[in-house]
Amino acid sequence: MTPTFTRRTLSAAGLAAAALVLAGPVSADTYPQRPITMVVPFAAGGPTDIVARLVAEQMSRSLGQQVVIENVSGAGGTTGITRASQASPDGYTIMMGHMGTHGAAPALFKGLKYDPAKSFDPIGLAAGTPIVIVAKKDFPAADLKAFVAAVKDGGPKVNQAHAGVGSVSHSTGILFDSIISAKPTLVVYRGTGPALNDLMAGQVDFMTDQIVNVATQITGGTIKAYAIATPERSPALPDVPTTKEAGLPGYEVSAWNAVFAPKGLPQDVAKKLQDSLAQALADAGTKKRILDLGGTVPSAAEQGPKALQALVESEVARWTPVLRAAAESGQ
Ligand code: ASP
Repeated sequence: MTPTFTRRTLSAAGLAAAALVLAGPVSADTYPQRPITMVVPFAAGGPTDIVARLVAEQMSRSLGQQVVIENVSGAGGTTGITRASQASPDGYTIMMGHMGTHGAAPALFKGLKYDPAKSFDPIGLAAGTPIVIVAKKDFPAADLKAFVAAVKDGGPKVNQAHAGVGSVSHSTGILFDSIISAKPTLVVYRGTGPALNDLMAGQVDFMTDQIVNVATQITGGTIKAYAIATPERSPALPDVPTTKEAGLPGYEVSAWNAVFAPKGLPQDVAKKLQDSLAQALADAGTKKRILDLGGTVPSAAEQGPKALQALVESEVARWTPVLRAAAESGQ
């Protein structure tokens, strides 16, 4: 009997190769001839979406084709990244990953269907995003020390928002909880955009999230910030103390967003995407918008594919023991 092959029996690489054959070879001379999809693995309006839209706008200009954002949320960002990793490596599907999807997730998902260090062609780092401890504006604690005490004492009565297991807000959140030995109730969202809306409405108590999502609301007074988890204060939030200044020096953590493509891009297509991202970040307007939101713009040495590959490998190595220990301690 002739074996019948379903989509499921074909490997991701097989599917990608078949798609390439059908579409014909992609070359930088003709690429891109149609819009490019950038998968954002979280809901619209959150930090990954914000960074993606900022760079996609500029990349569309230099590539001469629209870079269209597709929000594919779920499972802490791993649903969208899994799907994008299995797309044809032809340059027409790229994705905005981050420290969660490409650093923390392997520690927390046993059956993760991608390997952050092996399943992608890294395009480049897009932004550094320090972590800020934020709470609803009427949370009754005047400073970080009082906040830590309130979260510990409140136990499950305190609600902590996050964007799904393995996400930045989840991994940095459970790290915070394990350092202060607290066990709040974790409330999951499809991204920290919707989580922020609930924080502003007072529906949840706090979260740890990427600065580009929360800086505007902190300065506007619709939420409050207890500390920024970096060694130095952020120029975007000069009044927010560092965790060290506020009495919690053990909690220093930063995140990032970066562009990846499915493994197997033709080299010249990869180069076009890398150059386009680098040009986007060199644009004064884009730079300013990232800096105004508290993000950092990577230097040329930090930005390219080699540096990003090294960052992914070091982040997986750094987060795996920390998160396994935090998870084992019951977070
Ligand atoms: N900052 C989010 C996270 O916690 C995701 C997002 O909405 O960008 O991973």
